[in-house]
Amino acid sequence: MNIHEYQAKEVFRKAGIPVPPGGVAETPEQAEAIARELGGRVVVKAQVHSGGRGKAGGVKLASTPEEAKAHASAILGMDIKGLTVEKVLVTPAEEIATEAYVGCLVDRAAQSVTFMVSSEGGVDIEEVAHTTPEAIKKLTIDPRYGLLPHEAYWLASALYDDPPLVKQTARIISQLYDAFVMAGASMAEINPLITTPDGEVKAIDAKMSIDDSELFRRPDIAAFRDLSAEPISETKAREADLSYVKLDGNVGCCVNGAGLAMATMDLVKYYGGEPANFLDIGGSSSPEKVVAALEIITSDPNVKVILFNIFGGITRCDDVANGIVTAIKQIDIDVPIVIRLTGTNEDEGVRILEEAGMKAATSMDTVVEQAVALANQA
Ligand code: GDP
Ligand code: MN
Repeated sequence: MNIHEYQAKEVFRKAGIPVPPGGVAETPEQAEAIARELGGRVVVKAQVHSGGRGKAGGVKLASTPEEAKAHASAILGMDIKGLTVEKVLVTPAEEIATEAYVGCLVDRAAQSVTFMVSSEGGVDIEEVAHTTPEAIKKLTIDPRYGLLPHEAYWLASALYDDPPLVKQTARIISQLYDAFVMAGASMAEINPLITTPDGEVKAIDAKMSIDDSELFRRPDIAAFRDLSAEPISETKAREADLSYVKLDGNVGCCVNGAGLAMATMDLVKYYGGEPANFLDIGGSSSPEKVVAALEIITSDPNVKVILFNIFGGITRCDDVANGIVTAIKQIDIDVPIVIRLTGTNEDEGVRILEEAGMKAATSMDTVVEQAVALANQA
């Protein structure tokens, strides 16, 4: 789960990281009131689950409350990387001497948390990693001990020479690690971590992703979920208890079992197609789940064909067939549906489909090849 900058800043503040104050506004008037209360120059910042807001025009400096109101009215409703801005953060404008990058994430290759720091801050870190990888210093943390004080100093020394700056930065790096662990995060990032002309170090941006599996034991963090900021399809899938990940292709996949869903995506690629999604309808699939799955798949305008790959074990083929028949009555599906149905109650499932004028095959190869051909023709 991604959280907003203002939420990540709350977590950072609790861990002791110096973060400027601020308030969240949903209307230009609220933004103006917050700016007036803060006094002085402020920054109005789009709150969306995406980086690169600065470049997209979602971060604007205002000298007066009136200007903050005008900026908020321009930023609210703005589209940033497909996400609509519903909220802005209004925070004092800091004077910046230098900008650095500090972040940590679960590094699957190292099976540990890895820290990354760079004095090339403020810009897109993926770009720095690509063009000047030597500008990023990395350190893998031994999970048995956590981040040790000398390691925090080593990372901070990669950013600054001046001892007071190193000391403040080392403290912030330790606090960031604490925040990361405390929140059950998979990623936590300060970009930029700034120094001010009078030698203070502060976090003026905050980004955090939380591991979904950590949420059940952290109700305070789970409460950060903002449904209005997440793709509707993913919210629907979660509510229907389906595992769904949207992808960029055009073959909509509806499969029972995560392993079979992965194999189906591989086979789609093998036959020259691109999957539009990963979707596991789960082991025991009721007709309602199938209807929800079809609603989600068809809400993606890229989908040119729907491919069912059902291997009935606990899942019953007749349940899936009933779901498909119900769904095509309820929702307007204007793309072809290709179905593979085999296993438990297969005969009954095939009968239900045939009565509704549809067909099913038993071979996975046959249907995937057919689905890819249909998608490529469309
Ligand atoms: P991002 O583009 O989504 O990563 O948003 P950031 O919060 O990192 O802001 C982008 C850039 O705007 C920063 O790198 C800064 O250069 C600038 N910026 C953000 N807040 C302030 C501020 O308080 N004062 C000044 N002078 N610049 C700021
Ligand atoms: Mn940033």
